[in-house]
Amino acid sequence: MLAEGIVADRDFPPFARATRDGYAVRAEDVADVPARLEVVGEVKAGDWPERGVRLVGSGQAMAIMTGAPVPADADAVVMVEHTSPIRESVGKLVEVRRGVSAGENFVPRGAEARAGQLLLDRGRRLDHAGIAIAASVGKSRVQVFRKPRVAVLSTGDEVVEIGATPGPAQIRNSNSYSLAAQVQNAGGEAVRLAIAPDERGRLRTLIEEGLECDLLLLTGGVSMGKYDLVEQVLGELKAEFYFTGADIQPGRPVVFGSCGADTSAHVDSEIAAGTRARAPAPHKKCFFGLPGNPVSTMVTFELFARPIIEALAGMTPQRLIFLRARLKSEIRTKTGLKRFLPAVLSGEFEDAEVELAQWQGSGDIAALARANCYVVIPPDRERIEAGEWVSLLMRSG
Ligand code: AMP
Ligand code: MG
Repeated sequence: MLAEGIVADRDFPPFARATRDGYAVRAEDVADVPARLEVVGEVKAGDWPERGVRLVGSGQAMAIMTGAPVPADADAVVMVEHTSPIRESVGKLVEVRRGVSAGENFVPRGAEARAGQLLLDRGRRLDHAGIAIAASVGKSRVQVFRKPRVAVLSTGDEVVEIGATPGPAQIRNSNSYSLAAQVQNAGGEAVRLAIAPDERGRLRTLIEEGLECDLLLLTGGVSMGKYDLVEQVLGELKAEFYFTGADIQPGRPVVFGSCGADTSAHVDSEIAAGTRARAPAPHKKCFFGLPGNPVSTMVTFELFARPIIEALAGMTPQRLIFLRARLKSEIRTKTGLKRFLPAVLSGEFEDAEVELAQWQGSGDIAALARANCYVVIPPDRERIEAGEWVSLLMRSG
């Protein structure tokens, strides 16, 4: 995430840049076509036509290549496709078969940006387009914000590390790895902690360890079961809960809150200014308790955790992007919750269509891997017909 604005060091383009191969001409000379012009030379990319010298006079043309500077006394470029060379005894002529208007087929100097103009804002993710800009203004080093460290803590007596051979009732810990990937994709640095059993003491120790990072993501243990201890342990740590539960499916039990003294304003400004490598404890740290079902974990991360990681990473807050597509086959569901159902978007351009992935519920990671987006169903809809437009949350990364 950029911690400084990137400014144009010179005009963009720095010279009137031809966008076609052809001939630099004066438009008035080709107002009546066909027109014959005397070819007085050639300018290719990298050449700099001498200033002050009259290069393209009335009735003249200069051969020019894409990316080359247009001589100052020409005001348009005719495409080579609309010309034919004519060889005669004296000099070289070209016949122009189609006229051009002044300003055609070149970009005037400074038309894309003026020297000194802000091209990239601070707080913007340095993506490939941003990198192109940094490179083109000669910024080989840019100031970026420190990535927030995001602790990932999976909980559950049945959850075992992926290197272990699971017992008959055990499952491998997939959440810590999917979350770490999502954290990275959102601009954070994931710190995977050990798996916490459904036991108060150990869970508390690991939560405290996680709160040393900039943000803590817990998975599992936030439902209503007897061994869902996450909220209780956070309560013991004097957590403040901003919400416990959301009217969504999957992901209903998601909780969000913070622990520690409120010095957030001060901390925010220091983090934003990138002045501190590591925050001293104690101060307020946010956490999410995400439900353990893998699909719920992934959806609630996208909806709630990603925006906070982006903010902690110094990014100017962005809204989630929802696209719309036509539904391929009817959906029936229950009312009451906003649903985010794994789906497959296919087709292209105006023929894009979306269809629900066959799934067995929030634990079905195989279905999620087949899907590439989520269909968003409003809480008041029981049935959505084939052909209706539906809203999609795209799966990132
Ligand atoms: P919980 O939210 O703890 O009630 O867990 C809900 C479901 O998610 C259970 O079937 C768990 O076995 C499963 N689950 C919980 N944690 C993980 C994890 N780290 N990786 C994969 N599945 C998990
Ligand atoms: Mg559990």
